[in-house]
Amino acid sequence: MVNNSLKDYHKKRDFNKTNEPSGKNTKNNNKSIFVIQKHDASSLHYDFRLEVNGVLKSWAVPKGPSTNPKVKRLAIPTEDHPLDYAAFEGVIPEDNYGAGSVIVWDKGTYENFTKKDEKKLTMKEAIKKGHITVWLKGEKLNGGYALIRTNTGEKEKWLLMKMKDEYADARRKPTSTEPKSVLSDKKLSEMKDNNDE
Ligand code: MN
Repeated sequence: MVNNSLKDYHKKRDFNKTNEPSGKNTKNNNKSIFVIQKHDASSLHYDFRLEVNGVLKSWAVPKGPSTNPKVKRLAIPTEDHPLDYAAFEGVIPEDNYGAGSVIVWDKGTYENFTKKDEKKLTMKEAIKKGHITVWLKGEKLNGGYALIRTNTGEKEKWLLMKMKDEYADARRKPTSTEPKSVLSDKKLSEMKDNNDE
């Protein structure tokens, strides 16, 4: 059964031409996962994705995440992606949606910490409210991160920021100093199209 929230994902892609997953796997019995993919599309960005109700809720973050709580990073929501996408890296061929190289820059699990008036909110409620707080357990990123919606409507915008905790580090700059894939150990520039080999 194809998850209905993946309609936009399917509409944008021809799976005869791209190696991206078509998204048959909608079950994950373990902890909720997160993934951050570095994507050299028409403009370089990081795709920040959180597993919510069988899909990956997604934001494109042009400058990528920071470990400095004083830094706010623009995050533009994009279409839901299938869970399988969390393991995808490779090259999306020219003339296809999102053409360019992708690596898995970070991955791991997360816990939803969102509260309102001392009451816990589900991820669905948090997204609706435009205020999400998660605790990441990744290979590069750890600790609290907040996503705050600042614009609604067609130009919907969010901000991604590190929260103040023991993992906050204003000097670390992991997007510069830790560029490699956590899956293949390759840099984005080293990711080659399998079909060319
Ligand atoms: Mn992308």
